[in-house]
Amino acid sequence: MKVSRARIMLLFASETGQAKAIAEDIYDKCLNAKLSCLLRCVSEIDNSVDLSQEPCVVLVGSTTGDGDPPETAQKFWRTLHKKDLPRDHFSRMHYTVLGLGDTNYTNFCNFGKTVDARLESLGAKRFYECGWADDGTGLEEVVEPWTEGLLQSLQKHLMNVSSDSAASEELCSASMRTNQEDANQILDNNRKEEVENNHIGVQSNSAYNHLDDKKSKIFFDDLGILENSCILNLPVVALSFSPESKLSLPVLPQPYLDISYSQEDYSDCDNLVRSPLPSATSDPVKCHIESSRVLTENDAVKTTLEITLKFPQENLLGFEPGDSFGVIAPNDAREVDLLIWLLGLEDVANKKFLLAISPSTKKKAAAIPSHIPAEASLRAAFTYCLDIRAVPKKPFIRVLVEYTSDEQQKRRLKELVSKEGMQEYGKCIRDAMVSFLDLLLLFPSCKPPVTAVLEHLPRLLPRPYSAASSSLREPGQVSFVYNLIDIPREGSIVFGRKGVCSGYLTRIGSKLSGIEMELSDQMKGLSLKEDVVYIYLRNNQSFRLPDDLKTPIIMVGPGTGVAPFVGFLQHLEAKSEQDPTLQLGESWLFFGCRHKDKDNIFKTELKEFTEKKILNQLCVCYSRDPKEAGSKYVQDNIILYGDKVSSLIVDKGAMIYVCGDAKNMAKDVLDSFATVLEKHKSFSNHEARNHLAQMQVKKKYLQDVWS
Ligand code: NAP
Repeated sequence: MKVSRARIMLLFASETGQAKAIAEDIYDKCLNAKLSCLLRCVSEIDNSVDLSQEPCVVLVGSTTGDGDPPETAQKFWRTLHKKDLPRDHFSRMHYTVLGLGDTNYTNFCNFGKTVDARLESLGAKRFYECGWADDGTGLEEVVEPWTEGLLQSLQKHLMNVSSDSAASEELCSASMRTNQEDANQILDNNRKEEVENNHIGVQSNSAYNHLDDKKSKIFFDDLGILENSCILNLPVVALSFSPESKLSLPVLPQPYLDISYSQEDYSDCDNLVRSPLPSATSDPVKCHIESSRVLTENDAVKTTLEITLKFPQENLLGFEPGDSFGVIAPNDAREVDLLIWLLGLEDVANKKFLLAISPSTKKKAAAIPSHIPAEASLRAAFTYCLDIRAVPKKPFIRVLVEYTSDEQQKRRLKELVSKEGMQEYGKCIRDAMVSFLDLLLLFPSCKPPVTAVLEHLPRLLPRPYSAASSSLREPGQVSFVYNLIDIPREGSIVFGRKGVCSGYLTRIGSKLSGIEMELSDQMKGLSLKEDVVYIYLRNNQSFRLPDDLKTPIIMVGPGTGVAPFVGFLQHLEAKSEQDPTLQLGESWLFFGCRHKDKDNIFKTELKEFTEKKILNQLCVCYSRDPKEAGSKYVQDNIILYGDKVSSLIVDKGAMIYVCGDAKNMAKDVLDSFATVLEKHKSFSNHEARNHLAQMQVKKKYLQDVWS
């Protein structure tokens, strides 16, 4: 295929939609700047596209799991790593990469970095430095300046390409107009400076008075929302800059959705949970709750529960120990109600809506967000499709500015979204985890149209949980272990809440677990019943028991990280019951909790596994129990038992499994394994690290870690 030399091939490799959204934003900016651009998911690169002939490639790609490429990039990844590609394969290509990752995980931005290195090794040249954005600290800190610089680099780079005389006839007419004038225009747009001359006095209660009616009182009491007088004193709503100071605002995103309503009510939820699901290897199945129990004592630091779900008879999901499931959790009905009320949508909330692209939109390549069905009700969409708890991104806040009538609130939103207010946004919105709903309560004169909300709220993602049971023991069901997340009313969070999924699972299982949890009419007006949960199987090819069960295993799982190992041990037990002659390799479990008598979850079960010799060595530590001497953390026990542990690893080829917190534990545990190899096997630090790295490559050191 002949390629225009001045065309940009903008590729994205997305797992949850973030890379796609950023690529779409870059695409819009390119088109606004009259740059010729093709936007493609890497999965769409087939034989009709010869990447090696592309003169200008921009890739926005996420890293998932343990440094893996997203699902959509598997084929692209394999093609790029073909061994027979000549060293100059991409010598015509100029490229850059924006990698998205999370420094809480090992192999930060591994996908983007590996693609960058591979392209370079095959002759491609970087026309603009790659960007590595960290979701752990806020993607926008890198994404925004990187995108701004990218546009300037593209202008320059494409002008160079276009000045190549041989290419002149191949230039697209759009890119021909890409001259300094256009470049200035974009910069003007991007850095539109506004001088605020409005007189903004001290904010008064009156800005919040209209929330003080009877209806709002019901909501406020029900959810325990902070009083308006207190909201007024929060730093998030107070002006930080002098009213005269200049603020550079980002470009206002173009609206693109139209909505109409039929007279008919909408109550069918089934099509809402069938949209493409991340990492799914099965369709969603409708499960009933078999049991729910609290595993911790009342005074434990965290409340941990186990819930068991029964698959439908006609669809027994076959799963292996180590697999995880996606739980499709709806938003809390009370929050959905509040949102509907705050947006003034009560009359139409249950009506069937029809979404369409507005014929007058100036947005290029506008499409109905794939996570919202074209036909549904607002209540259903807010319950199942949209993450109403998401921290609003800056483009959304930029839109909200336009729909805020109170001058002081408007000015404060401008501050938060401005270039000058970057730190304010980080501190008061992103780090404070302020949700869209919080924002509407903090800035009550903000009344956006529902289409803006549908355009900007991200998808409500399913939550992954490791199976904590074996399908060999109970083929028709699966158990999960989870902590009930409690988000108190503090800082800019104006009402307390439970985690979306942990709150949902606890609420629907509360009759069985006996836990005191207010039952909200979760599915109000919708067809789903309270005791039904949709789940699907996620792909996981590596966190599995060894093929040869004689291989020794070392499991490390503090807290709820023990969940998959309960599944492992049940599985081994069932296997040896099926075949009493079966020889099992030595098995060790390092478990840690805070107090011996409060959160020592699965104490009885693990003791039984030990007595039955399914588990050969159980090492438990208590991190906050002054009565208990001994190790504090699992890694201390690994070092304590270093002699045997190192022998299992080096002499007996043990597999290592680590599950739990990604932020600190996983790194500390890796360090402790390196320490024991140094101490007991006389490895140098470099040799020890190299040994463990090789085990990771060979999938003998496996991690299932979450932040
Ligand atoms: P946790 O908060 O990790 O605490 C468990 C124990 O680990 C506590 O005694 C804690 O001690 C200790 N700890 C703290 N820092 C540590 C460190 N650097 N190294 C070793 N131990 C450390 O337990 P959790 O709340 O149950 O969280 C476990 C993690 O596993 C979460 O990230 C969860 O998302 C993840 N996970 C869950 C599942 C599941 O299916 N539920 C599956 C996989 C992973 P102190 O607090 O006293 O310091």
